[in-house]
Amino acid sequence: MFTTKLQALPVQEGTLEGRPDASTLSADTILLHLLDGRPVRVPYLTAGHHHRDDPEASPVVAQLLSSSSAGHPYNGKPLVRVELDNGRILVLAVDRMGHEPVCERCAPLWSRLEEILDQVPAGAAITAGVEIGTVDGIAMLVVDAEDLEEARADDGPDDDPEAPGAVPALVSEVAA
Ligand SMILES: [Zn+2]
Repeated sequence: MFTTKLQALPVQEGTLEGRPDASTLSADTILLHLLDGRPVRVPYLTAGHHHRDDPEASPVVAQLLSSSSAGHPYNGKPLVRVELDNGRILVLAVDRMGHEPVCERCAPLWSRLEEILDQVPAGAAITAGVEIGTVDGIAMLVVDAEDLEEARADDGPDDDPEAPGAVPALVSEVAA
């Protein structure tokens, strides 16, 4: 559950800027909404391991640890570091988590990801976890298939092995 720890997070204007195309997204607004005390989940994070209707497929966020001024490397959105209720540490875009779909405001996230799930074979994952080093230790960066598609569209042909567009091989199942 989100706790007072979460509410103590210093969310300052201008500290959560990502790439310019992230300007339409207000991390403060999203965090304020998520801080209302209801459970927050990462929808379909492990849908490749669990049936999408299994609550395990959408793990609960236990607490928000920090927010980052760096944008997500694939989609430019403001990043947050969270701890799941199973103790795992994730780094993910602030709008990659939400309340249960009964929340009108968070429902579009679930339905968008459901649509993507509908397009992949049963048991396939739409999200990958990429291990990254942070100042606070190793964390798992959440990368969605849709982020990679966006990166490919941005970057054009995949002639550079270091370009984000060359990474789809990383889209494998998140280790549960
Ligand atoms: Zn909500």
